[in-house]
Amino acid sequence: MDQAGNGTSEHSEAHLRSILATVPDAMIVIDEQGTILSFSATAERMFGFGEDEVAGRNVKMLMPSPDRERHDGYLSNYLDTGQRKIIGIGRVTTALHRDGSTFPIELSVGEAWLGEHRIFTGFIRDLSERQQTLLRLQDLQSELAHVGRVSEMGTLASSLAHELNQPLTAVASYCEGARELLDRNPTDEDLAMAREALDEAAEQAVRAGQIVRRLRDFMSHGEMERRAESLQRLINEANALGLVGSREHGIDVQMALDPLADEVFVDRIQIQQVLVNLIRNAIDAMIDAPQRCLKLTTRPAPKNLVEVIVEDTGTGIDPALAPQLFQPFVTSKQNGMGIGLSICRTIVEAHGGRIWVEPRADGGTAFHFTVPAGEPRQ
Ligand code: ADP
Repeated sequence: MDQAGNGTSEHSEAHLRSILATVPDAMIVIDEQGTILSFSATAERMFGFGEDEVAGRNVKMLMPSPDRERHDGYLSNYLDTGQRKIIGIGRVTTALHRDGSTFPIELSVGEAWLGEHRIFTGFIRDLSERQQTLLRLQDLQSELAHVGRVSEMGTLASSLAHELNQPLTAVASYCEGARELLDRNPTDEDLAMAREALDEAAEQAVRAGQIVRRLRDFMSHGEMERRAESLQRLINEANALGLVGSREHGIDVQMALDPLADEVFVDRIQIQQVLVNLIRNAIDAMIDAPQRCLKLTTRPAPKNLVEVIVEDTGTGIDPALAPQLFQPFVTSKQNGMGIGLSICRTIVEAHGGRIWVEPRADGGTAFHFTVPAGEPRQ
């Protein structure tokens, strides 16, 4: 650390080292320029570099594009404005291993002053590690189930309409029966029967109400919460989650994100679900391909929309499936459910956008979708 010249005393350095040796998460300390001051033993294992190889170098070497090119800017922007985008907040993003592969991480950054100098400490958890992966995937799956409900809504509504018919028909016939009993000169017995029929009718009406309430509960879970969101952030997180478990396939990820098309007005979880579905499909299609490149592009689109493109160099779409690709239960995978793309379409269309697929000229597939931009562009 002294070589890096941050001027810590021997005592605090020894203290820091003892912490570094024991923290279970990887820990990387950098100075205000982004120069690596220390690199914990876990970080060495996680990134495949020894501390002596990274100390004194810029931390962006541990990031894939586009963060690699942008990190200096992020840092100086924070030093200039004090505006916190990550410090004390934490986020899911992607890291670069020595061997060139990328892996998903959860990064939290703290800030401290050492005399005149400021240092930043990053704690990093590798989400591709089994346990973390499982946790994250569970979260994701429960969210997926949630979103899945939205696309099932049509089917559910028709089955509920059918279910509703029963109690309503019963109410009608009990009321009819009661009226007939009351119409003739009713005996005490008739009156008792009429009362019973009306009780039954009330009970059936309550049942119908419960069915309607069930439908409403179901729909309210699928309700959208739209906000202005940064597409870059959504994509980074979705990419990290989508790539979970695919490290061994050596996927090369490229991003071409237009800063002019960054702000979108969307339900974050739902649009991340679309992205994760498309990224997972892209990876599935590339597993045996000679070239495995995933490209994520954003650009402004007409009518105040933003277009997102998820491209792969995989097998391309099976022509037999192409016409019904976005229909539910269409799959070419042994363990596939075939609902991913139908969910994507439901979500995108609920946002007022459109989703479509195009073959790539040199093989592979490009899925395009549009979502509303955050603010009207000039
Ligand atoms: P699942 O992935 O469970 O099969 P999806 O609805 O997500 O369900 O996808 C349906 C089918 O569309 C897949 O089984 C696959 O045949 C095809 N498909 C989707 N994305 C791609 C892609 N990027 N490249 C090639 N085929 C794809």
